[in-house]
Amino acid sequence: MTDSQQCRICEQGCRIPPGGTGICRMYTQEDGTIRERYPDSYLTIMPVSIETVPILHHSPRAKVLQVSSTGCTFSCPGCVSGVLIGDIERIAVALKRLPPEAVVARANQEGCSGIVFCLNEPAVSLPSFLRLARAASDAGLSVGCSTNGYFTKEALDQLIPYLDFINFGLKGSSDQPYHMCGAAHAAPVYRNIAACVRNGVHVEASVMYLKGSEEEVAGAARHLSKISPEIPLQVMRFVPFGDADLRQEPTILESESLCDRLKQTLPYIYLFNSPGTRCLNTVCPSCGGIVFTREFYGPMGARTVQALPEARCTCGFTIPVKGAISATGFEEPGMLGGYRVTRALEMVEAILVCLGAGGKAAPPAFWPSVVSGEFIKDLHDRIQTIDGYFGLVRDIGARCGKMPEAEGLVGYLSERVDLVRSRTSGAPKPRVYYSMGTPLFALNAGRFEIALVETAGGEAVNRTISRKGKPGVNISKEEFNAFSPSVIFISGFLSAPAEDYLRTCRSQGLSARAVDKGAVYTMPPGWDFGSPRWVLGLMKIANLLHPDRCSFDLDYERTEFYRRFYGSDAGSADQNRSFSNPPRPATVTKDTISGPQGRQNIPLR
Ligand code: SF4
Repeated sequence: MTDSQQCRICEQGCRIPPGGTGICRMYTQEDGTIRERYPDSYLTIMPVSIETVPILHHSPRAKVLQVSSTGCTFSCPGCVSGVLIGDIERIAVALKRLPPEAVVARANQEGCSGIVFCLNEPAVSLPSFLRLARAASDAGLSVGCSTNGYFTKEALDQLIPYLDFINFGLKGSSDQPYHMCGAAHAAPVYRNIAACVRNGVHVEASVMYLKGSEEEVAGAARHLSKISPEIPLQVMRFVPFGDADLRQEPTILESESLCDRLKQTLPYIYLFNSPGTRCLNTVCPSCGGIVFTREFYGPMGARTVQALPEARCTCGFTIPVKGAISATGFEEPGMLGGYRVTRALEMVEAILVCLGAGGKAAPPAFWPSVVSGEFIKDLHDRIQTIDGYFGLVRDIGARCGKMPEAEGLVGYLSERVDLVRSRTSGAPKPRVYYSMGTPLFALNAGRFEIALVETAGGEAVNRTISRKGKPGVNISKEEFNAFSPSVIFISGFLSAPAEDYLRTCRSQGLSARAVDKGAVYTMPPGWDFGSPRWVLGLMKIANLLHPDRCSFDLDYERTEFYRRFYGSDAGSADQNRSFSNPPRPATVTKDTISGPQGRQNIPLR
C-alpha cells in the first residue's frame, strides 16, 4: 500500500493519501505522485483589459486573455470568487479541456498581447499554468497572474522564468488575517514578493481592507516599501460577498482617508471597489499632478480614462510603468471581464435559490450550460429590463427542470410590478439621480436600477449622460449640478451611508434639491439589481417617489418574500452584498428600510 505524499505546490503542504485530495481539492495522489485532477482545463477563457486583473503599472489598457479554473488554497470569508471555488465537484463539470497551444492560438486570434491566470488561485492548476506560460512565452506573449502568493519557494522558482507581471492578493501583514483564510503564516507571501522583485518580475499587490484592519493594511505597506517603494499597492475596500458581515465594510470616505495615510509609506496607493473615488488616479509623487486618470470598472476593476504620454508628468517626473501604454482601451462585452463574471454566476445562483435549486440541488448539466461566454454575455442585456429578467427566470427554470417554480416567481414579481405601475400611472414624475458609491459616479442609463425608477414613476436624469462605463461613469460637478434631482438613490451594491454622501456633496460644492432636502436614500443590498429581491426595491422607490399614492408595507413584503422564496419565517435582513445569500436572522437598521411616515399596510396576497 502506498503512503500519503506531501504536495509541495503551496505552503499548506497537504499530505494527500492515494486517491485523496488536499485543501484545494484540485490535486490527488496516484502511485506516489501528486497529479492535477483537471489538467489543461479552464472554466473561463476570455479577453479582458489588464486593469481588471487588476494591474495598473504594466502595459496600461492592454488586452490580455484571462484564464481561470476552479478552486483555491485559501478559504477567506466573503471571497469575491466564492461562486467559482465553493463547490469544486459541482463547478468542475463545467471545465473545458484545452491544450496550451490552443489557448495561445485563441489569444492571437483575439489580438491579445498576453495571458493572465486570475479569478481563482493559479497554484491549484500550477502544472497546467506552467505549460501554458511556456507556450505563451515562446509565442512572444506576456504572462501574468493574480495570486494569494502562498506558493512554495520551489513552485515559484519554476514559474518566475515565464512571468512578466504578478498581483499578490495580501490578507494583511501579520499571521492573524492569514489564519482567517485557513493559512498559517504571512511570511511566505512577502518572501515570494521579494523573490519576484529580485528576478525582475513586475509586481503589484492588493490588500483587503476590512473595517478595523487599518494597522494590517499599514503594515503591508511598510513591508512592501522595504522590498521596493515602486510596488503599487491596491487597497481593496472590503465588500461583504458570500456570508461575510456588512459591518466589516469600511465606507468609501474611511477608505480614502486610509489611502491618504498610506501615501506617507508608499507613493502608489490605489483604492478599489469605490465608484467615483479620487484614489484610483496616479498622482505624481513629485508635484501632485495627475498622470493617469482612472474610474471604477466593476468589482476589483479599474479603467484607464486618460494617460499622459510615456507616463511622464508635466513636471518631468516619470511614473515607473513597464510596457507600452495603448492608445485605446479594450471594452469587454456584457458581463465579461474581471470579476463581473463571478457576479454574473452569482445572479444565476440568486434565481436558482428562489426556485429551490440552489447549491447542490442544481442538475449536473446546469452549470456547464450557463458557464459559457455566450450565456454570460447575453445575461448582461437580459438583466437590465424587467421583461428581460422574467425571460431569464423562465430560461433558468427550463434549464434546471423547475418551470412551475419559475412561473411562480415571475407571477409573484409581475403582480407587484403591475400594482406599482397602476398606482403611479399619470402622476407627475420627480427627477431622480441614481449613483453608486459617491455622488460623482452615475449609473449607466441602460441599467436595471434606472428601469426600476421609471417603472415606479420617476424621471431618471441618468438618461442625459451619453457616456457609458461598467456599470457607470465618473461625471463632473457641473453635470451633477445640472441634473437638479429632487430624489437621489445610492446603489445597494457598492454603497455608501446617506450621511457620507451628503457630506461629500457639501464638501465638493454639489447642489441639488435632493441634497438640500436630505432626500438621499441608500438601497439595501440586492434590492435594486442582481437578485429577485429587486421587487422590494421597486416598492421602496415607489413609496419614496409617490408617498401620496404608494405606501407598501416593506416589512411585510420582505417577510413574505423570504418566507416564500427562501423558506424562512423570520423577516431577515440583507446581511451582505451577495445576490443569492440565504436569509439569516438579523436586525435591519432603521434608515435602510425607512419610507414615508404613516404608511398604510397594503398586503398583496
Ligand atoms: S496546492 Fe492544494 S493540495 Fe497542494 S499543498 Fe496547496 S492546498 Fe494542498
